[in-house]
Amino acid sequence: MNREKLAGVLPRAGLDVAAVMPQVEPICEDVRRRGAAAVREYTARFDGVDLATTRVAHEAIAHALAALDPRVRAALEEATRRVRAVHEAQRPADHVTTLSPGARVTERYVPVGRVGVYVPAGLVPLPSSVIMNVVPAQVAGVDRIAVASPPHPEHGGMPAPAILAACALLGVAEVHAVGGAQAIAMFAYGIPDCPATDVVTGPGNVYVTAAKRLLLGLIGTDGEAGPTEVAIIADHTANPNYVAADLIAQAEHDPLAACLLITSDPALASRTEAALAVQVPAARHADRIRAALEGQSACVLVDDTSAALAVSDAWAPEHLEIHTENASGLAARVRNAGAVFVGPYAPVSLGDYLAGSNHVLPTGGTARHTGGLSVLSFLRGIHVVDYSAPALAEVAPYIDALGGAEDLAAHVAAVRARVPRGTGTPTVMSPAEPRPASSRPAEAQAAEVAPTAPEPAEPGPAAPEVAEPGPAAAESAEPESAVPDDHDPVAAASADGRAQAADPPPIRPDLMGGTPYGAPQLNVPVRLNTNENPYPLSRWLANKMGAAVAAKVGTLNRYPDRDARALRDDLAAYLGHGLTWQQVWAANGSNEIIQQLLQTFGGPGRTALGFEPSYAMHPLIARATATTWVKGQRDPGFSLDADRAAAAVREHQPDLVFLTSPNNPTGAALPLAVVEAVCEAAPGMVVVDEAYAEFARDTKATALTLLPRYPRLVVTRTMSKAFALAGARVGYLAGNQDVVEALLLVRLPYHLSTLTQAVARTALENRRDLLSTVDTLRVQRDQLVEWLRSQGLAAADSDANFVLFGEFGDTHAVWQGLLDHGVLVRETGPAGWLRVSVGLPGEMKAFREALSAVLSRPAVDGGGA
Ligand code: PMP
Repeated sequence: MNREKLAGVLPRAGLDVAAVMPQVEPICEDVRRRGAAAVREYTARFDGVDLATTRVAHEAIAHALAALDPRVRAALEEATRRVRAVHEAQRPADHVTTLSPGARVTERYVPVGRVGVYVPAGLVPLPSSVIMNVVPAQVAGVDRIAVASPPHPEHGGMPAPAILAACALLGVAEVHAVGGAQAIAMFAYGIPDCPATDVVTGPGNVYVTAAKRLLLGLIGTDGEAGPTEVAIIADHTANPNYVAADLIAQAEHDPLAACLLITSDPALASRTEAALAVQVPAARHADRIRAALEGQSACVLVDDTSAALAVSDAWAPEHLEIHTENASGLAARVRNAGAVFVGPYAPVSLGDYLAGSNHVLPTGGTARHTGGLSVLSFLRGIHVVDYSAPALAEVAPYIDALGGAEDLAAHVAAVRARVPRGTGTPTVMSPAEPRPASSRPAEAQAAEVAPTAPEPAEPGPAAPEVAEPGPAAAESAEPESAVPDDHDPVAAASADGRAQAADPPPIRPDLMGGTPYGAPQLNVPVRLNTNENPYPLSRWLANKMGAAVAAKVGTLNRYPDRDARALRDDLAAYLGHGLTWQQVWAANGSNEIIQQLLQTFGGPGRTALGFEPSYAMHPLIARATATTWVKGQRDPGFSLDADRAAAAVREHQPDLVFLTSPNNPTGAALPLAVVEAVCEAAPGMVVVDEAYAEFARDTKATALTLLPRYPRLVVTRTMSKAFALAGARVGYLAGNQDVVEALLLVRLPYHLSTLTQAVARTALENRRDLLSTVDTLRVQRDQLVEWLRSQGLAAADSDANFVLFGEFGDTHAVWQGLLDHGVLVRETGPAGWLRVSVGLPGEMKAFREALSAVLSRPAVDGGGA
């Protein structure tokens, strides 16, 4: 039986939207013409309340939150956290595609300007609906969100308190007491108290659905919400009590709900029927459950699970549960469903509230072409086409051909006005524009800019870390500037103008022969080598940052606050532990903090001790400040024993000791006992580098707790990792006030720019949003460790956002193999190990696939432990 026939015999209640159109159309038209007066009249007529304004007062919203049952509040908060985490992962990055030198198309994802969320009154108020609609819009970066919900006379003409409370929890201040078709029309046309919106989402009754269908085009909407439905595919392994409970839970929503049990096991069908006979009479809403189960519901007997899947795909259910052997294997084959729930412990009820997935899903078979509500529902991808004159000249002949074939001569003329036929070179070129790359054939140019990896200038094991691309590296990501242009007159002039030096420059002897820092910054699709946070800022926050910077731009004629007093106040408040601004210092990245520490407490004739393998910049900055570096050893397995560490300190009597916790590259945090033992033994400063502190499994075990006991202890932190702000360059330290004051001796005047300070303060103010990815990254990290181990590899337990894995006989071959698959990891030492940063889920998938492929090649097998 083909899909159409199969779908035709399966039950499903229809929603006759067309039937109510004659009632809905005049309401919408009336709201368009008469605005607020019409809304007021329909509210009085349909909801029985007369409201001078649709706007719900802030006090009422705040009061609803204060009166909310604390258990419901906790549940809504947890649901929000999970939904936010899942939807943060959906946020697409802007894509830039360079097609040839000077020919670039960027896909920018831009949030819509204003969103209206409709929350129906329904049989019971659904605060979970508020979360499912509002959170994706917030994550998308929509900053103007209004909620509308029908007023109730029994609530003083206001929407249900649970809905108001949910709005308050989510920070939605604009709530309108209006329901039905008139609410949708109000959102579409706007009234003085509620400006028009661009997108309207949220479920509703048939009148709401009809209004959304009518006004579609003027506004964007989510899919039409018909009666809810579930399909359950089950085999002999299924628990009939669970299956029956889930059919009942779905039927409880609506007498029109559709429930389908699809099974290859007649015994399971009978046992489920028996379970229903027991459970239905005991259910609270037995009447509507019976109506749904006896109405548009069925049990479909099939030959096997493949046939079951074919039936489900034909029906395209809103929810699909799979209770079979190898349920996840079957789930991977599903083609049409709103959401899939795998195995016995993922009932639809979980997805309705707490799974983190969205519960606004396509019904009525529309899952064949539409997905559930998501961040993308509130974004538009805008193509930004940026071609230089030479790039346009390159494709002009093709436009001639296509414009000619379509008889659109003006199209051809518009291009040829800029690049006349036959010249291949532009006629109009602004002085700032580069000359055509050269007269080389297009393929040759394209070959140069394709993302082929340059010869990796891979550093050796002790090679230093680079947290951020330097200006040169950033440019090299731009193929346009990566193409050497030997015809460029400006470049030629500067090359010619440079004096030819006969001798090397007279650099300091102790720096001679050194290597500047620079990990490979290759333009490959998956970059997992610098431990950045892979999640870009939310659009909403990016806008806020932009506004904070814009507010300061007018003051750039003045130097910044050189003591960064306000920022240090904010940092002290963030760190807690009773710290004040006098005990906190900030600089451009924790690298600069480390430099200032070594300049102040190290220097010629002084020593610093660190336990390797650890962060490679510690010895490098020591060298740059002419401080002697002493290498302490870690124990096998990379741990550091308190007694051994203290003994090394006593032996070398260093002016500074560097401890890194969580350690880079090995990942694990140090027990506080080690820090204590080192502090007890150290004659000078002890620096605990906590760059990855927020990712630790135990965030409470921070050296900040030891500061009151050890005046020569300092703890360094950064906003480059958990805060997802590597590009902003903000690091900081907490320590005794006299230590902070000592750093003033070496800091450059006005080292921290006004703009950096503004960005850092905005980040701290919005840290909940920024740090919301930390939990997700932790989970992904632990899954990564587990996966690596499942592949027979060694992976170190990690408290950071990266994982060290090995051990390989030929580490470089594995690194290169991954790179050949477009995945860049870090070859940082110790020998035999590689380090991979936790990336976006898609990047992790690419990493796993690449590593599996590399390891299955006989030439680069693991090489043994
Ligand atoms: N400390 C450690 C342990 C690091 O791994 C890094 C960067 N990878 C830093 C400090 C420097 O970070 P930033 O200068 O970006 O603050």
